[in-house]
Formats: sequence, C-alpha cells, structure tokens
Amino acid sequence: MNPIFADLPTTVFEVMSQLARETGAVNLGQGFPDDPGPLDVRERAAQAVIEGWNQYPPMMGLPELRTAIAAHYRHWQGLELQAETEVMVTSGATEALAGALMALIEPGDEVVLFEPMYDAYLPLVRRAGGVPRFVTLQPPEFRLTEEALARAFSDRTRVVLFNNPLNPTGTVYGEDQLALLAEFCIRHDAVALCDEVWEHVVFDRRRHRPLMALPGMRERTIKIGSAGKIFNLTGWKVGFVGASAPLMRVLAKAHQFLTFTTPPNLQAAVAYGLAKDDAYFETLRADLQRSRDRFADGLSTLGLTVIPSQGTYFLNIDIAPLGETDDAAFCRRLVVDHGVAAIPVSAFYATQGVRTVVRFCFAKRDATLDAALERLAGVV
Ligand code: PMP
Ligand code: GLN
Repeated sequence: MNPIFADLPTTVFEVMSQLARETGAVNLGQGFPDDPGPLDVRERAAQAVIEGWNQYPPMMGLPELRTAIAAHYRHWQGLELQAETEVMVTSGATEALAGALMALIEPGDEVVLFEPMYDAYLPLVRRAGGVPRFVTLQPPEFRLTEEALARAFSDRTRVVLFNNPLNPTGTVYGEDQLALLAEFCIRHDAVALCDEVWEHVVFDRRRHRPLMALPGMRERTIKIGSAGKIFNLTGWKVGFVGASAPLMRVLAKAHQFLTFTTPPNLQAAVAYGLAKDDAYFETLRADLQRSRDRFADGLSTLGLTVIPSQGTYFLNIDIAPLGETDDAAFCRRLVVDHGVAAIPVSAFYATQGVRTVVRFCFAKRDATLDAALERLAGVV
C-alpha cells in the first residue's frame, strides 16, 4: 500500500457524521443544509435525465453552462471571462482543486497555505509533491499580516491556495487584505488558486470581491466555485473554474484524466439556476443570515463566546473561556454526552496553531438549531 495515503487520517467530517449517526446527535458538524434546494432547479435536472442528457458531454463542460457561468460572474462580480477559453466545469470544487494542484506543482515547489484550511488542501498538496508553507491565522479576526506572508513566501513559491470566504471561520476578506496578498503573489510570481465556493454566502450587505479582479491578478488567478453552495445541493458536485486561457489549457490537461466530465443533466440544471434573478441569491443570503443570528444569539445567551461570522454557513465559538484546552476532546464530549456534533477547528490546522475553537453549521431549520441549543445548555 502507498504509505502516503495509508498514513492519512479519515476526514473529520466523516468521523463526526458517523459519531452523530451512532449517538443520534443533532448534527451541526459536517456542513450540509437542511434546505432541499430550489424545486425548479431539481425539476430541471429530472427533466434533463428524462429528455436524454445522459451521455458524455464535452470535456470542458456543456456550452450552455460555461456561457451561464461567464454571464453569472459578469453580472455579480464584474469579471470578463471568455466562456470558450476561460471557463471549465469540474466534478465539484474538490476536483478543480485536485486537478489544479496536479497540473501546477512539480515536486519540491512551495505552496503557501493559510490555516485554518479546508481539510482536503494539505493532503492534495502533499500528494502533488508540494512543500507546504503555512500562514497561521489567529482568532477572532484571522487577519493576514505582512510579516506572516513575508515568512511564508520565498523564491520557490509556486502556488498560493487561498479560501475566501473562509471555511471554517466565516471570515470574509475585503479589498485591503486581498491587495496585500496580491502584492505578494505578484512579487513572487506565484499562481493564486482561489477557492471561492462561498462567494454567494456573505452577510450584512457585504459583496464578495474575487481575488482575480485585483490589479495584476487576472492572468495569475484560478477562481474556483461550486453549485453545491449556491443551490444548497452539496451532493451534486458541479464545480467551475475560471482562469486565463494559458492557465486553463494546463488545467484542462489534468481534468481530462481525472474525471473528464460531470453529469450533463446536472450541468443543464445548474446552467438554468445560475440565470435566476437577483431575488433568489438575496433570499439565500437573507435566510442564512437569519439562521446565523438566531443561533449566535442562542449561543451568547448560554454564555458561550461567539466568534462573529461574516460569511459561509459556519459559526465558531471560543472554548478557552470555559477553561478548555483541547477542542477535539471537547467535541467528543459534546457529541457523546450532550448529543450535538460539531467540528474541532484544530482539524483545519497542521501546526499546533489554535486548539480552542469549535465550528457549528447553522444551515438548519429553526427546530434543529433550537434542539441543539437546548442540549448545549448542559455544557456551560
Ligand atoms: N472548498 C471549500 C472551502 C468547501 O467548504 C467545500 C465544501 N464544503 C469544498 C471546497 C468542496 O466543494 P465541492 O463539494 O463542490 O467539491
Ligand atoms: N465542506 C463541508 C464542510 O466544511 C464538508 C464536505 C465533506 O464532507 N467533505 O463541512
């Protein structure tokens, strides 16, 4: 067996969901919504299956979807992407990430990672032969600093893997922070692999700002999105990539041998969904913001220390004020003794960085959130 993969732990999402199933806990761990997704988008997928959209679609994605992605980003983010040469459909953001790292990294190349980082990043970087260089972000603001970036970048930096809005913290990085990062990417001639799957889930009237839109970044940024987050359809695994044509040609080489395509019926439905009017996207945010506020208020009322969430459907608490020093042990107790599954944020750190933050998914019905709060009352 290959020792690199054999040594990998099981992903924390699977571990916690399994524990939740075994114990009958309220599962606020793994991030998936209660909402079943828009009925018309699901109907469009069903109709596409019946109409016969079931054979291999073009390798780069259905033309309808690539055009819809380009139009969607033009409308929402002011980006000009050429559907034919600068947009590709992948099987989830995960495939886009894996393919990009496979395509760009030569063994020994350095990859700058920001921890806490989504749990797939580090295994993929290592598997591609990349050498991780960490920027350790600290609660409650998880800000990028010039000093930390200067320590992580070097003349061997090939790729910077950045996630905005940031899962698990809910941080939304704005213009000044993005400009700082862009400056380092340009100075070190690095490619920015920017995971923006949460781009539509930003709160309090924020607007997502794509890293690609910053001066000097258009040619060196790979932008990744996912229909899973936009339509509350996490199992669909329809992802998209935007990049300049020369970068896209390289990414497509990896994609052709990874999955080659993504189910065409789902692609047709996502193309339909991306063209929805603004009200759909505003309602998506407003509904999630209301759930965030309800859950945050409930946690605060219990005396827990809530770290503000500006985007994503995750909310974190700091357990240090409870005298806790080990978030993994805390989460085990939480699920076994109190019946609530959550995610220890230390699972998103490779270094010993931070060990007292716990993540909850609040994309749930009020009754589910209230049941969790009732159980959490026993913890404080
Ligand atoms: N990146 C981040 C930051 C995520 O939160 C997720 C899903 N939660 C993914 C990638 C994976 O997206 P997909 O399901 O489209 O592969
Ligand atoms: N992205 C989801 C989360 O952050 C989980 C995805 C998965 O289970 N791999 O919870």
